[in-house]
Amino acid sequence: MSRTVYLNGAYLPEAEAKISIFDRGFLMADGVYEVTSVLDGKLIDFSGHCARLGRSLKELDMAAPCSDAALLEAHRELIRLNDITDGMVYLQVTRGNPGDRDFAYPAADTAPTLVMFTQSKPGLADAPAAKTGWKVISVPDQRWGRRDIKTTQLLYPSMAKMMAKAAHVDDAWLVEEGMVTEGTSNNAYIIKGNRIITRQLSHDILHGITRAAVLRFASEAQMEVEERPFTVAEAKGADEAFITSASAFVMPVVELDGVAIGAGRVGATVTRLREIYLEEMRKAAI
Ligand code: PMP
Repeated sequence: MSRTVYLNGAYLPEAEAKISIFDRGFLMADGVYEVTSVLDGKLIDFSGHCARLGRSLKELDMAAPCSDAALLEAHRELIRLNDITDGMVYLQVTRGNPGDRDFAYPAADTAPTLVMFTQSKPGLADAPAAKTGWKVISVPDQRWGRRDIKTTQLLYPSMAKMMAKAAHVDDAWLVEEGMVTEGTSNNAYIIKGNRIITRQLSHDILHGITRAAVLRFASEAQMEVEERPFTVAEAKGADEAFITSASAFVMPVVELDGVAIGAGRVGATVTRLREIYLEEMRKAAI
């Protein structure tokens, strides 16, 4: 079935949504994006995604395409038009179409391009993998140095995902100077005793919206949170491990580079964190 998508203020059948070949998103990956999950027809943590979008735009001196209220309205309209119960809304803003190719940013009055579309994923919160856990491999982190900006230059994460596929596992953990930065499209954590360990926020990782919520819930549940880098060896010796992202929520990781983590099964702490996250976020969904 053809989707209705959003392009610069218009709701169109997907085949009719057209963007210029000179759009800087296409030529330069000069764009930022957000993915917001939908459960029971409602948006999960929309305000968090809006705030991060604003930050990404600001870091790149890119104009905001419209107000947050207009973005919320468009998200809701797309959910309605496409009859989405569970799934995601993808949003992308690019620096627009200057009518030619040039490394320098175009004049400030060049209109940004704003694109949104839905992805229907019935049963998104009941993914069978949450019961069995992911297997991951470690690969070198060869991305650029501003991973805190959510840009559309996703070629290396795609390459890392293909390395994971070739190794018949679910994802790759990226490693820099011996320390895990994050997953290809998620933040990475290990658990040792009552302590959750995850890399601190910096330019090295994306500031996950799910990460912020999960760390808040973990503290409220009397768990200790230690924000620091960890090694692959430390992860292999952890009791449990997991990743977070807006679409995978809290996903257990049970194997790293062929080595079982803890008992090699989904542990009680990760299971509890996933339950708390889903319960609280469903309550707050808009
Ligand atoms: N790190 C990277 C590199 C990502 O691409 C993502 C998902 N966009 C995340 C972390 C998780 O962020 P969030 O919880 O906001 O989806």
